[in-house]
Amino acid sequence: MTEPLNLLAIGAHPDDVEMSCGGWLALAAMQGYRTGILHLTRGEMGTHGTPETREKEAREAARILGCKSVSFAGLRDGFLNDDHESVRALVEQLRALKPQVVVAPWFSCHHPDHEATARLAKKAVHFAALNGYKTELPPHRAQRLVHARYSRHFDESFFVDISEVIETKKAAILAYASQFRHVVEEDGKPVTRMSKAGFIDQFLSISAQFGLKAGCTHAEAYRVETAPVVGDPVKLFNEGPAQHLIR
Ligand SMILES: [Zn+2]
Repeated sequence: MTEPLNLLAIGAHPDDVEMSCGGWLALAAMQGYRTGILHLTRGEMGTHGTPETREKEAREAARILGCKSVSFAGLRDGFLNDDHESVRALVEQLRALKPQVVVAPWFSCHHPDHEATARLAKKAVHFAALNGYKTELPPHRAQRLVHARYSRHFDESFFVDISEVIETKKAAILAYASQFRHVVEEDGKPVTRMSKAGFIDQFLSISAQFGLKAGCTHAEAYRVETAPVVGDPVKLFNEGPAQHLIR
């Protein structure tokens, strides 16, 4: 029987998770938590690289982030939907991996697959806990579904200070070598957002911006639909980086 995960990040395409919550995954692994990544597709609609390359790169990225598990749900890139069959596939994964906390994209994004992943994750986390929803495996109740920020702004519920692991996050993103300029510039295919020169630095400036807001060097922003209950607010606000900078 597989040991339960503390934290599971779900993404539509290989590289989504690393870019949106790679910092938290690296930090959690460093803190001794069991972490995992579930890629819903193999990114087979991608401009550069093959599904086989993407899978290899995804495994390397997960290794860099210290994940205990990396899985692929085998859904179709470009056609993600919260239909019954997809929800069922995801419920099976949640019941097998038994995560305490699940991270998925926020509901609004430029990419329809990312939006579908958010809806799918919400339904699957809900149904995975129900006795009445029958699959091969027994029900599993995750404690919390957290949404990571993708391309659209949201009012964040909390920040995770990823200053200590920013280089690990960067290395995990760069593990997707087929997506980057030094590999793709000669392949004659169109230049994408990621394959443009300077992408990685421009991208990591987002976490620097959140760090500025959060009072640390680099941060990732997260949102929950219902605010968490805090038992000791005084302790909470005395922990973490430079709380006096956040008003
Ligand atoms: Zn994506």
